[in-house]
Amino acid sequence: MKYISTRTPADQQTPRGFSDILLEGLAPDGGLYLPTHYPVIGKATLAQWRGLSYPDLAFEILSRFIDDIPANDLRALVQKTYTREVFGTDAIVPLKTLEPGLHLEALSNGPTLAFKDMAMQLLGNLFEYELGRRGETLNILGATSGDTGSAAEYAMRGKKGVNVFMLSPLGRMSAFQQAQMFSLQDPNIHNLCVEGVFDDCQDIVKAVSNDLAFKRQYKIGTVNSINWARLLAQVVYYFAGYFQATKSEDERVSFAVPSGNFGNICAGHVARMMGLPVKRLVLATNENRVLDEFFRTGTYRPRASAETYETSSPSMDISKASNFERFVFDLLGRDGAVTQDLFKTQLETTGHFTLTPEQFERIAVYGFQSGHSTHADRLATIRDTFERFGTMIDTHTADGLKVAHEVLEAGVPMIVLETALPVKFADTIVEALGRQPERPAALEGIEQLPKRFEAMPADAERVKRFIVDHA
Ligand SMILES: *Cc1c(COP(=O)(O)O)cnc(C)c1O
Repeated sequence: MKYISTRTPADQQTPRGFSDILLEGLAPDGGLYLPTHYPVIGKATLAQWRGLSYPDLAFEILSRFIDDIPANDLRALVQKTYTREVFGTDAIVPLKTLEPGLHLEALSNGPTLAFKDMAMQLLGNLFEYELGRRGETLNILGATSGDTGSAAEYAMRGKKGVNVFMLSPLGRMSAFQQAQMFSLQDPNIHNLCVEGVFDDCQDIVKAVSNDLAFKRQYKIGTVNSINWARLLAQVVYYFAGYFQATKSEDERVSFAVPSGNFGNICAGHVARMMGLPVKRLVLATNENRVLDEFFRTGTYRPRASAETYETSSPSMDISKASNFERFVFDLLGRDGAVTQDLFKTQLETTGHFTLTPEQFERIAVYGFQSGHSTHADRLATIRDTFERFGTMIDTHTADGLKVAHEVLEAGVPMIVLETALPVKFADTIVEALGRQPERPAALEGIEQLPKRFEAMPADAERVKRFIVDHA
């Protein structure tokens, strides 16, 4: 399988292998990488996959997209990644039935209690493998306001050939999130707390990455959500959810996905393109409704950071959905020139684009539907779910469940992706339920552990100096 860019016309593509794009971010023309085609899985093969363990299923799916890692090595990598020790159960992503036809798929039982572990844990092992094979090292530089940074650190801790430099706004993460990240004592993990807000952290990452000489000399890399390997790892749990919610391959299901950067639901789109019987992909946003607006009107208008609301589902407070271009490329018949016109020319000159009526109509072919939720909706959904089903859900999952309730169809099971555990967002749980969320035993008292971080002013030169001294 080879990979192409969403911004290159078909006759000018220079397809690349998986291991080459694994360690890179954007394609050179600013586009995102996608496979040249989606391997289609027939019903007979689907039926065979039904009985597989999660790592075996992951191997079957990944091996159809990765042909430059020997099969035995790839199998060993997924077996090492998806274990009961790391994810808590042999099912890895167990389905919890709320009522007949309505399920939660538990994606947040990894080390940082959010679904990003599902992909990031595999990425850590893939990076270590590929860097070892090449005899190279990588310094991962990132900015986080919470979930991504901790998932990256727990995936990369102790990995050979990798250092992590993670910027976060000093004193602005929750006590629990700070404890999760700063209690790591691994020498290859560096928490840099910047005196500023999240945008300052992102600006520093951009400034350092734009210094091409520095970037090359110190082998600066990223693990952000546009990484194709992260998206690919997420495709697996759509299949695993489907098998748990159905008895035969003649059934269809729908998925409801709490969305921000469009990475999670884009994996659902890929699964559907591969032939997984998915009726609807239901996109749920919070008050930051950029994507909901697009699926309702055909107009995509990313917002500036200043116009992005801070909500009680903070991991979905996204103004510009970094993976969205992948879906639009497919929607437009994989025309790189048209995608480039929309995402580069039109977005950069006018700040938005609008699909033609014919293009907009095609969205239905891909099964997408959307909705949004507010803080009041989240409180009501958390309360209702706890009262009726005895299940405590987090604020992001609540956004997904709220929208799922609006679009339920008789005879089509709905699987809501649970993207975090409630303990990560305790304040809102207390507001909704008047009680503290349950906490996994392993995380009792982490706030009391010694913390390891470096505070510094919001200054790219200071961050570079730190990297030079610690790379
Ligand atoms: C990252 C995240 C999301 C949004 O996922 P995208 O792939 O960015 O759409 C939703 N919920 C939680 C808890 C997250 O951490």
